[in-house]
Amino acid sequence: MSVIQIPAYTHAILSPSKAAQWLNCMGSIGITKELPRTSSKYAAEGTVYHDVTRRALIEGKDCDAYVGDKYEVEGFKFTVDDDNAEAAQRYVDEIRAIPGKRFIEVELEYSHLLGLPKFIEVNGEQVPGGAGTGDFVGIDYENRVVHSVDLKFGRGDIVYASYVKPDTDTREPNEQLALYGAAAAARFDLVGITDDWLVKMAISQPRANHYDSHNMTVGELKAWVASKRAAANRAYVLYTWGPERIDLNDLKAGDKQCRWCPLSGNCKAQTNKIMDRFPKGHAAQAMPALLTLDDTQLAEVLDSADEIERYLSAARANGLQRALSGHTLPNWKVVTGRRGNRELPDEPETARVELSVEAMTQIGVEDAEETGQIPIQDAIHFAIGESAYKPRTLKTVKQLEGALSKKAPLLWAALQPHITQSDGKPSLERIEDSRPPIANLTPEFPTPNAAGLL
Ligand code: SF4
Repeated sequence: MSVIQIPAYTHAILSPSKAAQWLNCMGSIGITKELPRTSSKYAAEGTVYHDVTRRALIEGKDCDAYVGDKYEVEGFKFTVDDDNAEAAQRYVDEIRAIPGKRFIEVELEYSHLLGLPKFIEVNGEQVPGGAGTGDFVGIDYENRVVHSVDLKFGRGDIVYASYVKPDTDTREPNEQLALYGAAAAARFDLVGITDDWLVKMAISQPRANHYDSHNMTVGELKAWVASKRAAANRAYVLYTWGPERIDLNDLKAGDKQCRWCPLSGNCKAQTNKIMDRFPKGHAAQAMPALLTLDDTQLAEVLDSADEIERYLSAARANGLQRALSGHTLPNWKVVTGRRGNRELPDEPETARVELSVEAMTQIGVEDAEETGQIPIQDAIHFAIGESAYKPRTLKTVKQLEGALSKKAPLLWAALQPHITQSDGKPSLERIEDSRPPIANLTPEFPTPNAAGLL
């Protein structure tokens, strides 16, 4: 089977996936413009499954039709597997349930909406100013709705369609989604989309079991885009100036923008913001003698926790990279890490081991008269029999569902009464999480008294 090669994509200078970065820290794309672009296996895997969903939606198939297909993206090799095909299928099913006319992988340009040039010359090459590929755009004439859905294939960090604005209870759209939504409404404007149409902007993150959406009218989106024009143009100007002319005032740290910034963990503005949270000197002495935190103080700590963890992990990665390239970091050194697990060859049924006559006799090969080569798996089987194997176990219900519900729907239905699922444990989540809060919580544990003591 041939390998499907997906070439590297030329990202716009003010790219949609980095919109939270350049809209909130306008100097960030300028100060990082000369850093080498690094490729990531996770991003490459996302590209593969975007392609699988694209093929499924265009060819009218389900994603399991592509299991076993081989891909190569930016030097990383992948084979489409059952579990990921099943996750990709969830996105495909969500898209198929959206009414109206559907468009897959749509070029969405927003440079004209923000007053940016369509192309910017970089090293003699014309690179788009502000544009990207929307995974899905739907036009539902009947209900006067534009749908814009972005597929995220990661399972780690959840990406939300909107964020609660600090110190308010209003929501701000996810910048990437809002740019896609505005660009989609503008692109299909000719078909009669007016300001009162609704734009439903959604994130589908099937491997994290996450789907949420944020709705704005076309008029509201236009106003949002207009409010971002100055920031976008400043980011563009700072990009053209480059790192030499950018100073600390052009950098504004924050969790959203620093999260994926290549300077994260190596940035003065970000470090200042993190360190300013910890009182020093006289300020620290002037603090009241805190023994325990009240609810508001604890919530503030939790608000900062993710950002600080990400900052520390980026700082560790940066420290290792610097030390590996010969820098001396006081009190730190590079050592060899723990060795990985011991592994047999990938295909022990064909890879061979050479055994002496005595060794063959020891594992029970009868009539061995001379040294010979024997497949490793057979040799181990001779030696210890069935105990050489892991016990055969069924896959999880989630892993079995796709295949069973399609190939044996009657069995799948009959199995339902036998499938149990434990209740979800209470979990503390950010307010953006789409699940409703648990009602009627009763105090099971002692709560702080007025003095803040347990
Ligand atoms: S790490 Fe944060 S503050 Fe520093 S340049 Fe990047 S986005 Fe701006």
